[in-house]
Amino acid sequence: MAHSLPELNYDYNSLEPNIDAKTMEIHHTKHHQTYITNLNNALEQYPEFFDKSLEDLLINLDDIPESIRGAVRNHGGGHHNHSLFWKIIGPNCGGEPSSSLLDRINKDFGSYEAFKTDFTEKSTKQFGSGWGWLCEDKGGNLVTTSTPNQDSPLLSGLKPILGIDVWEHAYYLNYQNRRPDYIASFWNIINWNEVEAILG
Ligand code: MN
Repeated sequence: MAHSLPELNYDYNSLEPNIDAKTMEIHHTKHHQTYITNLNNALEQYPEFFDKSLEDLLINLDDIPESIRGAVRNHGGGHHNHSLFWKIIGPNCGGEPSSSLLDRINKDFGSYEAFKTDFTEKSTKQFGSGWGWLCEDKGGNLVTTSTPNQDSPLLSGLKPILGIDVWEHAYYLNYQNRRPDYIASFWNIINWNEVEAILG
């Protein structure tokens, strides 16, 4: 089945002032939709891959025919990254994770503040377009990382549970060149219940 744009369960204006309504609308209906359209266009050439989940495509990228592998990496990655992003942000969110997730963060980063500093630094310093991430590695440890372009952490064997889009299209209308201010405001809209659900 062709991939399609997930609906948001909140309004475009409901994340203001952290993310403005116009940015949310363009980001969701134009940028995200374009990744999906391009992914579907690539898969049309090998329709048997429509049967596979998006995670499966990205985890097993080497199984994708070479002629469409780059498109699946970029546009499939873009689809997966944005689908996660919409889930882990929301109105009336922010604050700290629940005690069970907080325990894991404390174990793997030393403290919640140390985790915030680490995540902020990786997201800020990602050169050019990309993403900052909190992931679970194969050993069950929580780790931060960043990826360029639309590369998914799934490509590196990591399970992404929290990500911030640091492409300029995610913040330019409101923040222009001030990526650090956008990243600082991200903490106000993280839906930690959803992060924990994705972690499983
Ligand atoms: Mn984006």
